Parts: sequence; structure tokens; C-alpha cells
Amino acid sequence: MQRGPEAEIDLAALRGNLGAIRAITANRPVIAVVKADAYGHGAAQVAKTLEPEGIPLLAVAFLSEAVELRESGISSPILVLFDTEDPALYLKYSLTPVIHSVRDAERFSKEALKRDGPIGVHLKLDTGMGRMGLNGADTVKEVLEMASLQGIRLSGLMSHFSDVSPGGLGYARTQLENFNSIKRTLSEKGIKPFCHMAASGSTLVMPESHLDGVRAGLILYGCPPFHGGDSGNLKPVMKVKSKISLLKRLGPGKAVSYDRTFVTKRDSLIAVVPVGYADGYHRALSNRAEALVRGARVPLAGRVCMDLTMFDVTAVPGVSEGDEVVLLGNGISHLELADWAGTNPYEIMTSLGSGARRRYTD
Ligand SMILES: *Cc1c(COP(=O)(O)O)cnc(C)c1O
Repeated sequence: MQRGPEAEIDLAALRGNLGAIRAITANRPVIAVVKADAYGHGAAQVAKTLEPEGIPLLAVAFLSEAVELRESGISSPILVLFDTEDPALYLKYSLTPVIHSVRDAERFSKEALKRDGPIGVHLKLDTGMGRMGLNGADTVKEVLEMASLQGIRLSGLMSHFSDVSPGGLGYARTQLENFNSIKRTLSEKGIKPFCHMAASGSTLVMPESHLDGVRAGLILYGCPPFHGGDSGNLKPVMKVKSKISLLKRLGPGKAVSYDRTFVTKRDSLIAVVPVGYADGYHRALSNRAEALVRGARVPLAGRVCMDLTMFDVTAVPGVSEGDEVVLLGNGISHLELADWAGTNPYEIMTSLGSGARRRYTD
């Protein structure tokens, strides 16, 4: 038996989601976010699928991810969101850094002047996320200083929302105003970079945040970040499944799995499935999640173990060892799993995707 569940990655759905995002954003450029191995879908495969679709830019978190994409043959521009450690490698691999300070700008400028230069950079503004980016009272002055440096071109200006849930929209609008105010001031001084701020949530619920383009991660993979609202024509790209490796008959009053948190109430048929928290199937799903067997929803029985999980399949007619068990997909959504596990769909996607063996369909 091979370890772990199988993830079916539907590349046609991925292309379809790109089309759906273009429709939502009146055909603005979509920056495809493929960090964390494309949220568990495989960064190289995702990038190879999207490259011919005319995306302007891919985005990753760290330089090493960008270098891997280059080494797998990806030639599209790549934006590196959180890593300015090694300017020389940016020039070597033709990558675009997101910079966060005048000091970053000077380091890239210096390196570019030593080489072929200039290098295009995107500047991050912290408009309220409290994470990376320029946020002081001197922001405009600092940006002007950067723009005057030889060797770099300020080709992009960006920021990131902290909260676009219904309760956070007011805060998000203030962030957008902060951004637009700096953008206007720079524009008056002749600095007009490509401006982008929206990620998945804001792409869906804040059209005024679409600016010159959007950065799409979660929705590209077919999942809205929260319940409710119109999520267009998104289709989940990933389906995760396994098989029943053993069926066990238990009489009433019998305990299942660690700590005896599940006790049978009747003559029961318990399916043992070779998937566990080591595969990214969260332990917090214990006694809460459901899976699909022969099209029927079956409840998770007891604690999720490291490599095994049990489901109560008593009510499934004809259930047999070897039957497919769908853990994610066919109506069991990332959001539903996230609710059961007390987390968000991002964590479900990245953890299940990275734990599974992937199979791609076109
Ligand atoms: C991860 C990330 C995104 C993509 O976010 P989604 O909600 O998955 O679309 C966009 N911008 C930044 C800065 C990010 O870190």
C-alpha cells in the first residue's frame, strides 16, 4: 500500500477558474499566486497550465520557490512576495522582488548596477495589515527616494487587506483609501506603477479594490474564502480520496480509536481508511467530519490517527473493502472541512494537498 490519499487535480477546472476571475474583474490581469506549492496543487504543474493562458505574473512567497519554477522551465515573470535576501539571484533568474524599504531598494539597485540591470521591483505598502511593507509617515518621501535610484524600476505598487469579511469591510475600505491616497500623490509626481491590492476575498466582494489587477490564490483553486456571497463560476480543482482498507463489524457499546471518544450504539460496520493527520487530514476533524462512500455521506468515527481514520459505514448498502472514500470533493467542500476542523479553507487546501499523491487530469 502506498502512503497517503490521492489528490486528483483537475487542470481544466483551474483554467476555468482563471476565466471566472477574469469575468469577475472585467478582464483585468490576474496575478496567479502559486506559493506553498500552489496551495498543495503542485506549483510547476499549475504554472505550466496557466502560462499559455496569458497570465502576466506568477507570485510565490520565497526565492527558492521561484528558482524551482525557473528550473522546471517556467519563463513567465515571477513576483517574490516575502524574500529580499539575495538580490544577485533575482538578476540571475530574472525574478521580480517585492521590496519593503529604502534599504531593500538600495541593495537591489547596487546589485543591478553591477550586472545587466535595471531590475523591476514592486513596492509593498502596509496600509493596515501590520505585516510587511512601508508604513511610516514618510512613505511618499521614501518612495520618491527609491524611484530616483539608478538600477531599479518601480514597476509595481501593492498592498494587502487584513479582513474583507462582512464585519471587516469598513476596515478594508480604510486600507484602500490609504493606498489610493499614496497612489494619487505619486501619480501627480509622475510615478505610475502597476497597482494591485486585491486577493481572493476582495476580488469577490470589493470590486473597487481591483485596481490594475488582482492577485488570486484560493479562488484560482476554486474555493471562496468564506461562506455566502456570489463566488461566480468557481469550481474546486482538487479532489482528495482514499479507499477502505478494512471493514470491521462491531456490536453495540464498542469503542473505536484512541481515547474511546466514539462508542457504537448498534451493530455497526466501521471502515478503516489509510489516511491520517500525517497526511494533512487534521486531527481536529475527529468525530466531526464526513466523507462520501458510494455517494452517501458517512460520519467520521472517533479520533483521527496519524495514518488511519475510521468512518461509520453501517448505513451504506453494499459497502465493501476497496470502496473509494472521498474526503474532499463531490460536494464536500474546503469550507465545510475547515468548519469541522475549526480552521480556514487555506489550511485545509495546503495540508491535504501537500500530504497527498497527486494525479493530474486535463
Ligand atoms: C497569499 C497571498 C495572496 C493570495 O491570497 P488568496 O486569498 O489566496 O487569493 C495575495 N497577496 C499576498 C500578499 C499573499 O500573501
